[in-house]
Amino acid sequence: QRKVWTKFINQPTKTLDGQKLLLGANVSSESEVENALNFGADSMGLFRTEYIYMNSDHLPSEDEQASIYQNIVSKVNGKQLTFRTMDIGGDKLVSYLPNIAHKESNPFLGYRAIRYSLGESSIFRTQIRALLRSSAYGPIRIMFPMISTISELDQALSIYNEERQNLINEGVPVGSVQLGTMIEVPAAAIMIDKIISKVDFVSIGTNDLVQYTVAVDRGNERVSYLYQACDPAVLRLIGHIVRTVHKAGKTVGICGEVAADPQVIPFLIGLGMDELSTTPTQILKTRAYISRINSQTAGQLADNIILNAGTTSEVNNMIHDFTSKMP
Ligand code: PEP
Ligand code: MG
Repeated sequence: QRKVWTKFINQPTKTLDGQKLLLGANVSSESEVENALNFGADSMGLFRTEYIYMNSDHLPSEDEQASIYQNIVSKVNGKQLTFRTMDIGGDKLVSYLPNIAHKESNPFLGYRAIRYSLGESSIFRTQIRALLRSSAYGPIRIMFPMISTISELDQALSIYNEERQNLINEGVPVGSVQLGTMIEVPAAAIMIDKIISKVDFVSIGTNDLVQYTVAVDRGNERVSYLYQACDPAVLRLIGHIVRTVHKAGKTVGICGEVAADPQVIPFLIGLGMDELSTTPTQILKTRAYISRINSQTAGQLADNIILNAGTTSEVNNMIHDFTSKMP
């Protein structure tokens, strides 16, 4: 089967009826970027910058970070590249970082991601400056993880704008940057109309969005039967996000594991997602699968699920019905 997929390596990602979208890669290092390009990634939909901190024994300086980001920008050679600012905390701990949450009883509900960045703002400012410097070498997108309120987004944006202006005042070259946020918290999904008026794009992080929507720790085996991307409540939230963002004329992607899940992809294609970003090894298989989906009938499927599905098994049945008729 791998042989069959390889013919998709240098092809654009499109549906049976010719609807194009980007099939991106989730990566965390320069070598993973290279690997993803070899697998035919259209874009880097999620660069997890926290691994730069996790793989270092000291707080990386602005210059150190700028050189890492710069190399990545050069490597992707104009392909869409989305850096996520550090998503530290939760299950990702780094011992040298100040005030990192070692003893919280609910670390996934605690001091993590954008909350940590806003709390330790000098670390955040250093990262923003390094990212901005890399934009002189090619266009980039920057997004913030785990935004839950408009006020957090406003704070992050104002730090970004201040540091951009500081660099310009210092005569440091900066290039084109699009700004976005991840949607991983139900509160942000509910407020998406307000959020999208302030940014260029959003990316839905379903790994977290599922856990926060159904109140299930994504790593807890005992309750994992409840952790399902096909949960109709999750799908309704995703539908609400995509439709609101498109109504505003902006773009929306998805970078959770579901982006490569054949049980969810027809729904996502039906909504008209602009980018699906996944593990590099899943790219060819997913591109081949998408090429068999008719986006029009997938649109009807998505409507039907959002309006009528009450349970996960009803969703699964509807998707199964759909996939059984695919070429
Ligand atoms: C997500 O939550 O879906 C996501 C892509 O972020 P991470 O898996 O790094 O938390
Ligand atoms: Mg996440």
